[in-house]
Amino acid sequence: MASTSTSLRAAILIVSTTAAKDPSTDAADAALRDVFSQDGNDQWAVAETQIVSDSVSHIQRQIMLWADDAPDPAVNLIVTTGGTGFAVSDETPEAVSALLHKQAPGLVHAMLSTSLGVTPFAMMSRPVAGVRNKTVILTLPGSVKGARENLEAVLRTLPHACLQAAGADSRALHAGGVKKLEKEAGIAPGGSERAGGHHHHHGHGHGHGHGHGHGHGHGGLVRHTKEDENPKSNDPSLGPSRRHRSSPYPMISVDDALKLITEHTPAPDVISSKVDSTLVGSVLAEAVTARESVPAFRASIVDGYAVVVPENGNMKGVYPVVSVSHAEPGKDIQPLEEGEIARITTGAPLPPGATSVIMVEDTVLKSKTEDGLEEKEVEILADDVKEGENIREVGSDIKKDATILEKGEQISSVGGEIGLLAAVGVAEVKTYRRPVVGVLSTGDEIVEHSRPGDLRYGEVRDTNRPTLISAARDWGYEVVDLGIASDKPGSLEETLRDGLRKVDVVITTGGVSMGELDLLKPTVERALGGTIHFGRVAMKPGKPTTFATVPVKNNAGERVSKVIFSLPGNPASALVTFHLFVLPSLQQMEGKSPPGLTKAPVLLAHEFPLDSQRPEYHRAVVSVNKEGSLLATSTGGQRSSKVGSMKSANALLALPAGPSPLKKGTKVEALLMGGVRSSI
Ligand code: AMP
Ligand code: MG
Repeated sequence: MASTSTSLRAAILIVSTTAAKDPSTDAADAALRDVFSQDGNDQWAVAETQIVSDSVSHIQRQIMLWADDAPDPAVNLIVTTGGTGFAVSDETPEAVSALLHKQAPGLVHAMLSTSLGVTPFAMMSRPVAGVRNKTVILTLPGSVKGARENLEAVLRTLPHACLQAAGADSRALHAGGVKKLEKEAGIAPGGSERAGGHHHHHGHGHGHGHGHGHGHGHGGLVRHTKEDENPKSNDPSLGPSRRHRSSPYPMISVDDALKLITEHTPAPDVISSKVDSTLVGSVLAEAVTARESVPAFRASIVDGYAVVVPENGNMKGVYPVVSVSHAEPGKDIQPLEEGEIARITTGAPLPPGATSVIMVEDTVLKSKTEDGLEEKEVEILADDVKEGENIREVGSDIKKDATILEKGEQISSVGGEIGLLAAVGVAEVKTYRRPVVGVLSTGDEIVEHSRPGDLRYGEVRDTNRPTLISAARDWGYEVVDLGIASDKPGSLEETLRDGLRKVDVVITTGGVSMGELDLLKPTVERALGGTIHFGRVAMKPGKPTTFATVPVKNNAGERVSKVIFSLPGNPASALVTFHLFVLPSLQQMEGKSPPGLTKAPVLLAHEFPLDSQRPEYHRAVVSVNKEGSLLATSTGGQRSSKVGSMKSANALLALPAGPSPLKKGTKVEALLMGGVRSSI
């Protein structure tokens, strides 16, 4: 039996505000673990139990932690218990169903009919079941007895569901037909033996509907869900009256958002790069060793005369000049004997046998050749000469095979690293490929910034695209201009598909607020089969910042994940969130560690107001004064539409939410976007 030998991992989520405060009050965990071991056919390992209060965001966060690990989820099955009734605080079904990519009404039916066989009050339970990514999720009632009965009712069939959800070959799983499946699950035909066997056996539900839809050409998108299977976002076809009136996306902290970005940013690709100016900014994917020694030959450090030092070191006397060594390569130089000297220039190779070089300043010309052009004899004025003086030995700067640069080091524009590589004859190195970025503006009102003539009423010049393209290029990324997409669903979808084919990361602006024309989230989730990892962040500006990944096939036909950052439309918000969220992801993709803006403690040069609700990223100019302190001055009004608040800003000050302003001189953390100024 293929399935019994498989160990499936389950997680239990206790949804109870009481148990969250005092875990000792919970009895459901022990009861459910008991069901898994008693009725689980030895197929289950309960990996983890977590307790959360009756809070949609807490429930969702824990489920996402378990179910969103690619390629394999942390667990195959999540069972929740609690919060499925009609009380005001009962929101588990809502929290769970918003996360489901596939609904499983059959499981719901099985659970309900079991419970209804016991008590009509089962009507008061509102279970949901389905699949998120590769994990099956069920909501069990909060009563220990009810939870037990429900789990017992479906547990035998769950291994099959979980294996399929995890991507097992469905043809192989179904090879023996439904009879075999029932036998393996230990179930009598016609339904679960525990459920009393009063179900009609429909004999279908297997062997169809498993098409994977992967028949796209190279470079195409891979869809994992059918349209409408992942309906957290608005369904735009329903019109404005049916849109959500508050965001269904949990509001998460900036730190949690950054964690999700770290987690879901694809790993860097390794490529070969030529050692030239295009290498600047790249991070090495390998340690580099010297191919050659520097210098590669014994070289003179001065202009003077190569000599063979006698044992007593006294070189005083007149010597014949027998040869000349310029810094001219490839020539055989005649060996030097004691009592002879050879004229030599800085950097030139020593004649074989020479043991030291005497500077020209320590010598006097004694006689010339007949034609008067060459030196014939030179007097040396030095005694106590040591062997090796004024000589750079082979490898004395860099030894062959020594490690000159470590994996993870970045090639700077200062030139030190390029210089090292060039010196030791390394012409190609392995680096992390730098991601290609696409920038797209959205909105029917947006027009090219350079369009001549006056604006019509309601038109807005595209501010974000030129700004973000410049910023991304300046950080060293190749940028593809994806233009402006209108607020028509087809337009946005087409533009995004096209963009995802060309680039690694798509940055969009606009269309992420709650307006009925705000299509980004629905398009990413519904049309592109993407996963939105977060759609709201507790920060100012930038609250609707959205981060998603979309499965795509690359040119080699492999499944890769591409990243979409949907930034708010307001120009200041877009630029702040680019630096705060997009940049770390890009840097992670190119192997930079740690990714993100440099952080520095700074002192406020004046009083700063705080937002009472959300932490704020205040645009500021940071300068260093004569005492070496970093001082921060506000760029002025911080309204998110105010593009001028970014002018001359070189830092974002991370200010906490709070009731009263921060005083002058308070120390805060600055995220540096540009170089620190010197204060005037
Ligand atoms: P949205 O999220 O689309 O509702 O946009 C929020 C605000 O930002 C609206 O006032 C838009 O007109 C404005 N906006 C959106 N995109 C841009 C852009 N590319 N340049 C300038 N303003 C924009
Ligand atoms: Mg818009």
